[in-house]
Amino acid sequence: MQVCTETTLFMQKAIYYVSRLMAARGVLELTDCRLNFQVSNLDSSFGMRGVSIDLATVDDIRIEGGDLHPRVIVCSGKEYEFVLPRAQELYDQLKIRCFSSVSSGAGDDGGPSIICGCGHSVSERYNFCPWCGSKFSKT
Ligand SMILES: [Zn+2]
Repeated sequence: MQVCTETTLFMQKAIYYVSRLMAARGVLELTDCRLNFQVSNLDSSFGMRGVSIDLATVDDIRIEGGDLHPRVIVCSGKEYEFVLPRAQELYDQLKIRCFSSVSSGAGDDGGPSIICGCGHSVSERYNFCPWCGSKFSKT
């Protein structure tokens, strides 16, 4: 018997890239200690498997612009790539969970922000606009 005391922080439909050519659709769930991806029934019938990543083993998180939505890449031994509309939110939550002790010097709240071409105000810490996915060139 397993007792689950994990709290879900974030949940959204996402695409998990097994490789550049293979992807599975399903639901991505971030709890206070794990990042879980549950493959949809259809894709699991093709042999796709979900993943469960222990946040304590994550050594890097990146976010990259995609054609449609940003990609969140989680490194934990291997790289796990997820594509979802609210990628920036997931990325921020992961950063807080995995690297909360790391400080960039300036406060995370009220830090400098820039206005993206789409009209949204975005923190300077971001490389990509969470709304439109535009890449910011840091000067
Ligand atoms: Zn934008």
